[in-house]
Amino acid sequence: MSLLTRQMPVAAGDAPSAGGQEAARAHPTAVLSAIALGALATIWLWWQNTPSVQGLGGWLTNSGRITGLLAGYGVIVLVALMARIPPLERGIGADRLARWHAMGGRYTVSLVVAHGLLITWGYAVTAHTNVISEGKSLLLTYPNVLAATVAGLLLVGVGITSARAARRRLRYETWYYLHFYTYLAVALAFSHQFSTGAEFVSNLPARIAWAGLYAVVGVAILWYRFVTPVRQAIRHRMQVEAVHVEAPGVVSVIIRGRHLDELNAASGHFFRWRFLTRELWWVSSPFSLSAPAQADRVRITVKDLGDHSGALTDLRPGTRVFAEGPYGAMTAARRRQPKVLLIAGGVGITPLRALFQTLPAAPGQLTLLYRASDERDVVFRHELESLAAERGAKLRIIVGRRADLGGDPLSADALRTNIPDIAEHDVYLCGPSGMTAAATEALRTAGVPRRHIHQESFAF
Ligand SMILES: Cc1cc2nc3c(=O)[nH]c(=O)nc-3n(C[C@H](O)[C@H](O)[C@H](O)COP(=O)(O)OP(=O)(O)OC[C@H]3O[C@@H](n4cnc5c(N)ncnc54)[C@H](O)[C@@H]3O)c2cc1C
Repeated sequence: MSLLTRQMPVAAGDAPSAGGQEAARAHPTAVLSAIALGALATIWLWWQNTPSVQGLGGWLTNSGRITGLLAGYGVIVLVALMARIPPLERGIGADRLARWHAMGGRYTVSLVVAHGLLITWGYAVTAHTNVISEGKSLLLTYPNVLAATVAGLLLVGVGITSARAARRRLRYETWYYLHFYTYLAVALAFSHQFSTGAEFVSNLPARIAWAGLYAVVGVAILWYRFVTPVRQAIRHRMQVEAVHVEAPGVVSVIIRGRHLDELNAASGHFFRWRFLTRELWWVSSPFSLSAPAQADRVRITVKDLGDHSGALTDLRPGTRVFAEGPYGAMTAARRRQPKVLLIAGGVGITPLRALFQTLPAAPGQLTLLYRASDERDVVFRHELESLAAERGAKLRIIVGRRADLGGDPLSADALRTNIPDIAEHDVYLCGPSGMTAAATEALRTAGVPRRHIHQESFAF
């Protein structure tokens, strides 16, 4: 057994929250509905301020106004989705939020471009001039339009660096820090909305509501992304206690701290970890808890997949740690059925190892399928076997390549053969994206409803 499990009493369930209350979680449908209502209210704002639309110039200019308003709304929603607001992170999950953000980003950048082109074209038609000279006049004579144009170009730049082909060529950190230009773009574009936007020029309540929306999101960003991590660092004083090799290229890091129960961290959660060494202090990487959190200690288990994850092997006891979280939605709170199946692939075992210990389930109702391509890659074998014996849970560690196994052990047929009542299970899934995509399809074919499949992607 690992140090963490040996040194600490094995908890029967996750530690109760410090206040004894369940942490708030936003429902994805409610959040999407609220975003859609906001978009409708934005269009209504345009409608209220537009008595009539006349001529080609009028149609173009008004299309430019609508796209501009929606872009101004879209960009603040995108920033809010990434503000790490705890009920959003817990209810929706960081990976799904990131997917919404990426998809919304594509629409918003398109709206920004459409806004600039349509407004310029519309003004040119109305003024009977050409688009180039109208563009120059807009840039040089209208208040704040130059700054807004720079903001638009920055957003287009951020959009281009986020396109799949460009992202593959960039280091994660380069892409991540380029994204910070979005904040500059939002700040630069803000004033032109009030100084040139017909909806706001003579409408004080609209200005107050719009500025209020931006202010609330700005405060949320400052609070959750900057103030909270510093407060947590001061309160919990985390530091590395020990590092253990679990398998070739896989280490567990035990982190000691104070009052960790106040974090309300549950099995399935992850934190963004920043280790304060000369090489690592500037990066924060997400790693899941690989054992239930205790009041004075937590454990993460990390596979060497790059510069930073690889450097954790060399961490020395006493290294200070900043942890931001807990985040993630793949917890016991998602569970709907009495029977639970956990499917782990490779290092995706980490959150499921913690859940295997704490998910409430009667003997015989909890199953863990752990897939690894090589025996040397299997981590926590002894811990998992002890937990299975203690809890009366079923454990199947399936090692080997598909070709050697004579088929895919996670195909729909194989799953149905091994677990005949699979459709009655909640399934928690974590592993490489190819494996989780294939397993999700197999589970759906085997009759598991989508709402009973809970997964976390290890890539944003
Ligand atoms: C929610 C979540 C939980 C995770 N839990 C674990 C875990 O318990 N154990 C484990 O070994 N791995 C886990 N990972 C994966 C781990 O974060 C990456 O393998 C690690 O950050 C790689 O960083 P690197 O700098 O060493 O490698 P790089 O070569 O820099 O990155 C390799 C890939 O990892 C991803 N990545 C890198 N940095 C980040 C970051 N800061 N945020 C998000 N993705 C990043 C990118 O897709 C990148 O292409 C988790 C990832 C996520 C998103």
